[in-house]
Amino acid sequence: MIVTMERLATEEQIQSVVANVAETGNNTELIRGVERTVIGVVGDNINEDLRSGLEALPGVEAVVRITRSYKLGSREFRPTDTVVNVKGVKIGGSNDPVVMAGPCSVESEEQLMATANAVKAAGATVLRGGAFKPRTTPYSFRGLKEEGLKLLRAASDETGLPVITELMSEKDVELVAKYSDILQIGTRNAQNFMLLDAVGELNTPVLLKRGMANSYDDWLNAAEYILAGGNRNVILCERGIRSFETYTRNTLDIAAIPVIHRLSHLPVVADPSHGTGRWHLVIPMSVAAVAAGADGLLIEVHPNPDHAMSDGPQSVTFENFGKLMEGVRSVTGIGVANRTPLRAQPLPA
Ligand code: PEP
Ligand code: MN
Repeated sequence: MIVTMERLATEEQIQSVVANVAETGNNTELIRGVERTVIGVVGDNINEDLRSGLEALPGVEAVVRITRSYKLGSREFRPTDTVVNVKGVKIGGSNDPVVMAGPCSVESEEQLMATANAVKAAGATVLRGGAFKPRTTPYSFRGLKEEGLKLLRAASDETGLPVITELMSEKDVELVAKYSDILQIGTRNAQNFMLLDAVGELNTPVLLKRGMANSYDDWLNAAEYILAGGNRNVILCERGIRSFETYTRNTLDIAAIPVIHRLSHLPVVADPSHGTGRWHLVIPMSVAAVAAGADGLLIEVHPNPDHAMSDGPQSVTFENFGKLMEGVRSVTGIGVANRTPLRAQPLPA
């Protein structure tokens, strides 16, 4: 439920709404805008009596129930964009798209450091790398695990780039959170509700990939688990969905970006590497994603893709990563003074 206060509502009137809601066992979240304060109400005891009671309080302009199954993540609940701050790198809102780049898997110190330095030089501001790898067959390389996490941390300390890496299991939450600045929940775990609950208890930013067969509703409800646990630092990632097409590994749903911006206040990034499975599609799809308003990109980069231990066919070389950054800049104006980033503006539902 959303309580919109009058423009000139006093602090006392706002606090009276908060106290009235607390008496019913529900929770409030204050969203203080420039013009007015909006109070989000969530809980198990939301009913018509509460709605009409709040509407009668002084200073209250309107009280509207959110009919969607997800609440905290909805644009109705929070009309302004959420900006997730990762050690000073801001993702979402009117900030330039944030490019997170690095190898699919951390393979060695040499491979990771070379990649980290190359992507940083080209303009990436977050380093990616997998240490726990979800692989279709158990006989493929499954990651260096804690050793990989340590290499990521060292690369981060050396370059100053915050790190994102995948968390696959509830039992590793503490371990991965110790080394990583963003926890990535992969497509295969996108509806692992116990894992979502577990990261909901942290404050560490979480990048939630779209399940490969998830509708927008499924995906936003999955994000709701994390938000409802108290962790509001959620970034959504479109990484392609399964379709009948076999040329590409997945079908990157570019429309998901403006759709999610309309339905939700959470930042949305795109992963054209997994979204296409082919390196030569990664540049055009990156440019398309930022043109559609993506708040960031997640890109697989490898010093020698032909020898990568995972996802070589979709990994771009350092040289092509440089070209990708040029393409992104040409759309968004990253690093170019006095240009407004192209970004889908939130529209009323
Ligand atoms: C990855 O980012 O390396 C990965 C395994 O992604 P996804 O969960 O999208 O397949
Ligand atoms: Mn990969």
